[in-house]
Amino acid sequence: MPSEAPSLQVIGLSASYGDVPAVTDVSLEVRRGEIVTMIGANGAGKSTIIKCICGLLKPVAGTVKLFGEDLRGLTPDRLVKKGLSVVPEGRRLFGKMTLKENLELGAYTRNDPAAVRRDMDRVLTDFPELRDRLSTIAGTFSGGQQQMVAVARAMMSNPRVMMLDEPTIGLAPVVVDRISDLLLKIAKSGVDILVVEQNAEVALSMADRGYILEGGRVIAEDDAKSLSESEEVQKAYLGI
Ligand code: ATP
Repeated sequence: MPSEAPSLQVIGLSASYGDVPAVTDVSLEVRRGEIVTMIGANGAGKSTIIKCICGLLKPVAGTVKLFGEDLRGLTPDRLVKKGLSVVPEGRRLFGKMTLKENLELGAYTRNDPAAVRRDMDRVLTDFPELRDRLSTIAGTFSGGQQQMVAVARAMMSNPRVMMLDEPTIGLAPVVVDRISDLLLKIAKSGVDILVVEQNAEVALSMADRGYILEGGRVIAEDDAKSLSESEEVQKAYLGI
């Protein structure tokens, strides 16, 4: 039987800003049913990899594949149509628009209103705290609520793979737990996840596998349990 292509695959990716290399020869993959995390300190190259995957930055070298299909040259909206959804760093909500308008914008590439309405209802079932606030201006939500809106908006494109750039940064521990639970639930519903985190403890507690990034290179990869038990990772990232 032919083996199944990974959901998301990055092969030999290198990227620079001008002449300055930011990421060198990075390979990673998210397989079906997985939550995978990319952990690294400030400036390790995590956001650069995300930008290359979603077509916002042209890599110097390397390939990105979604379910085996090369994504080179596809615009961000084509990628959304193909099932890739991104929750960017800093959430980037439309702060002056209502929650409902933000969610509707998450579905902008779709042209089946009935399916979009169904997904809106599904998303509000998964995020019950948002249901009664559809006409609230998004910019007035707390940081944690805004992060939930950003994840909910990403779900509105009906993705098969979701990438999140530091979804728990700056949030209170109780909100971090809520976001982790949501991501586990989303993964269970069949969406494969790549989550970038500086908070290794949170990331490894929800992920199946992880990659450690330093200076733009992958320096370790393993299942999440082994990484969290590794002395090196404990010292550098878990403060143990
Ligand atoms: P953070 O957690 O701070 O977002 P990161 O791991 O996502 O860090 P990147 O933002 O990908 O790291 O940065 C990787 C390297 O590229 C760093 O050395 C950074 O200074 C550099 N870099 C990032 N964005 C730019 C840019 N727009 N122009 C020039 N250099 C950049």
